[in-house]
Amino acid sequence: MSRDGAMVSVVAPMLDELALVDEFVARTLTALAAERVELVIVDDGSSDGTAERLDALAAAEPRLRVVHLSRNFGHQAALTAGLEHARGDVVVMMDADLQDPPEVVPTLLERWRAGADVVYAVREARAGESRFKLATASWFYRLFNTLTEVRLEPDSGDFRLLDRRALDALLSMRERSRFLRGMTVWVGFTQTGVHYQRDARFAGETKFTLTRMVRFSIDAISSFSRAPLMLATYVGSLLAAIALLAIPVVLVLRLLGHYQSGFATLTLVVLLLGGIQLLAIGIVGEYLGRIYDEVKQRPLYLVRDGAPPAADQPPPGPVKTLDERVGQ
Ligand code: UDP
Ligand code: MG
Repeated sequence: MSRDGAMVSVVAPMLDELALVDEFVARTLTALAAERVELVIVDDGSSDGTAERLDALAAAEPRLRVVHLSRNFGHQAALTAGLEHARGDVVVMMDADLQDPPEVVPTLLERWRAGADVVYAVREARAGESRFKLATASWFYRLFNTLTEVRLEPDSGDFRLLDRRALDALLSMRERSRFLRGMTVWVGFTQTGVHYQRDARFAGETKFTLTRMVRFSIDAISSFSRAPLMLATYVGSLLAAIALLAIPVVLVLRLLGHYQSGFATLTLVVLLLGGIQLLAIGIVGEYLGRIYDEVKQRPLYLVRDGAPPAADQPPPGPVKTLDERVGQ
């Protein structure tokens, strides 16, 4: 298919963003005035009037489609809902708080027209973010890249463009712990990056508390890496080896009469081992919990009302491989 004249879908989730709904819709549609475009906004269970405002705007603007989720399902699930409802030949996902400037989207499209299938936007400067957030984000990307096979560009967020082929591949991944930016790298195809200046939030507050960030990081790493599970094996083997070496030493000391009753040492060792064991069980528990979530097979999100999903959306459950679909 020619990449000129293609239909472009822009997908953005919103939770309680009444103060910036109008600005986001206006700026995005202006930035993409030259394109055949649909803007899919997912209302992720807002309770501040965002939902009503979106409906009012959509009544007057045919390019705007609104999907209301039945409650708050979280950023990644809301984005997934938007991606599944998108009908475009190419899809751009972004935050709706105008930290990702809509004016960058034409640059992403340019790269796509030049042949790239996945174009990720890399933040060059990040205005209005605390030093703590920047530092923890940079540790996270380093840890993620060390522990997983997926090479995630540092400072690339969920602001990404996906060609329809890459999007269908992404949507065929039905896992519950979703780390979308990692999944877009995992699907492969031709990937390229574009640098941009990240703005401060246009209005309102961040919805991500520290606890949510920690959860999100654990989700991200555990859905792409089994390395933490190996940790118990490594630490366990090391401690067992030390214990084996210590047996003859203790025996010799005892025979030579140098043996002292080491109550404090013993207590420390018991505490240390107890701690390590609980940690290991905790790590196993994290993965077990994820298996539990997966086997329940609950839907990723529920739609209260809104635009019907795209007709060519892959069905949940076993999904055809790309080859099978191309052969249809
Ligand atoms: N968001 C959402 N559901 C949530 C949390 C956030 O749809 O449970 C939306 C929010 O409205 C915004 C985007 O996701 O458009 C990014 O959230 P936010 O700006 O709070 O995150 P940050 O940029 O601080 O990481
Ligand atoms: Mg934000």
